[in-house]
Amino acid sequence: MPARRHRHRFLAALVGLRPAAAGFSTAPSQGCPLHAALARRGAPAAAAFALYSRIRAAASPTPYTFSLLLASLASSSPRAPSPAAGGCDGLAAAGLAHAQALKCGALAHTVVTNCLLKLYCALGLLPDARRVFDTTGAAALDAVSWNTIVSGYGKSGDLEAARELFVRMPDRSLVSWSAMVDACIRAEQFSEALRVFDRMMEEGFRPDAVVLVSMLKACAHLGAVERGRWVHRYLEAEGFGRRPGNVMLETALVDMYSKCGCMEEAWQVFDGVRSHDVVLWNAMIGGLATNGHGKRAIELFRRMLEKGFVPNESTFVVVLCACTHAGRVDEGKQVFRSMRDHGVEPRREHYGCLADLLGRAGLVEEAEAVLLDMPMEPHASQWGSLMSSCLMHNNIVVGERVGKKLIELEPDDGGRYVVLFNLYAVNGLWEDAKAVRQMMEERGAKKETGLSFIEWNGLVHEFMSGDTRHPQTRMIYALLEDMERRLQLIGYVKDTSRVLIDMDDEEDKGSTLSYHSERLALAFGILNIPHDMPIRIVKNLRVCRDCHVHAKLVSKLYQREIIVRDRHRFHLFRDGVCSCNDYW
Ligand code: ZN
Ligand code: ZN
Repeated sequence: MPARRHRHRFLAALVGLRPAAAGFSTAPSQGCPLHAALARRGAPAAAAFALYSRIRAAASPTPYTFSLLLASLASSSPRAPSPAAGGCDGLAAAGLAHAQALKCGALAHTVVTNCLLKLYCALGLLPDARRVFDTTGAAALDAVSWNTIVSGYGKSGDLEAARELFVRMPDRSLVSWSAMVDACIRAEQFSEALRVFDRMMEEGFRPDAVVLVSMLKACAHLGAVERGRWVHRYLEAEGFGRRPGNVMLETALVDMYSKCGCMEEAWQVFDGVRSHDVVLWNAMIGGLATNGHGKRAIELFRRMLEKGFVPNESTFVVVLCACTHAGRVDEGKQVFRSMRDHGVEPRREHYGCLADLLGRAGLVEEAEAVLLDMPMEPHASQWGSLMSSCLMHNNIVVGERVGKKLIELEPDDGGRYVVLFNLYAVNGLWEDAKAVRQMMEERGAKKETGLSFIEWNGLVHEFMSGDTRHPQTRMIYALLEDMERRLQLIGYVKDTSRVLIDMDDEEDKGSTLSYHSERLALAFGILNIPHDMPIRIVKNLRVCRDCHVHAKLVSKLYQREIIVRDRHRFHLFRDGVCSCNDYW
């Protein structure tokens, strides 16, 4: 769809050019069957280039020819080999087309230059795009050129370069702002995405569906439900819901509410949609599963089948995940077996889900067999999940095997040593534990730093384990110590068996007063966020067992609703219990 829209814009731009402007006339080429063939999208680079060669053999190519050629190359698969064009692949074809356009003087036309920029951006060749952009005089660039390069940098993940050009842009449109919001999201700068959006609104632009979907993504990642609700209200006020084909927006809403732990609202959106599609069903089923409603997720999957929707690969991932969270082993196995009946061939992630289902339920031998027997090589992360299950069920036999395999697979990842170390230590095998620790030190393996984020007053506050960088550090630590004392009165015993042996904290250095990042964020939340608002924390790693117990008790003692999204799932702590039923 966007391709067609661009194409219309592009043709309109062509029509707008006077033929007198260096002979850019489309008239003779429009009726030409070769040009018509070149205008088709998605052809292999070699085929497009062969067409171009035939056009050139018949008559001299026009700028129109070049814009068609460049657009065709941009739509073809970049690295598909093409022996027909003398082994030229998409990248080589781009260089050839560029050289030809230069030779024929076609780059004097902004439309052609823009097509070339789009081609280089589509191929991810940003330095080449930039060279074209910089060597074209400012007068020969238009709004499309600027938007193309900003969006190209954004899509390649180079937010700095996108921003630098965005600031210099002579004229910013909704497309430019939208490209910038998208650039922030791709660079995972979600709070920056919100700020850019705010500035866009201040400048008086009315957001469209594209930028609003981006906004919802940012809100989902940050757990910023207030902002997400604002987008929802905006959509309703502007009547987006009554327009057809907005299931993309509705899916983004369901996803945002689910990722913020607001299942009632996710459900309301889902229920209000008139024309569901499978992506929306997947979002709702997945949302229920990760929020601890495994049973409801499975029921919804059954309803989806009854209504005649055809499940796809992602459906089975979320349903198997629901079975895992609900601890429904037999049902999960049955769903897995039924995949082929629905025409879906199990892929690596499905085998991983099945192994996870078995492992979490304590059937670690069976889970290991699934990973060993699956037709493709399992990912290290799938062995990692099995390792967590071994640790959870304290299975030293399988755990030792899997732990050693993981170290072999990822010798630079410190986390892999830590779990095996923990397994040995929990079982009192100190010599083995020491050997693992020594191996880790010798190899200089690093563990990913645990980070927690909490949003307050439009700012995202970041905490590391044992962090002392925050301006409120003194108050945060004082509160944590006070908390510890009060929690002990209601039965909290620090899980020292794990905390003391945890190699989690490089900052730890033997001190037992080093708090994990989520506790610092939690204390910050209690200090700053009003009592009637939930405290939402996002963590990049898994919540540890001790912090989980701690958060449950804090929710009871302080009568606060605490929502923690960790790497794997959601925890909604309320009145001393967690929505995950201690199963994560
Ligand atoms: Zn912890
Ligand atoms: Zn939990």
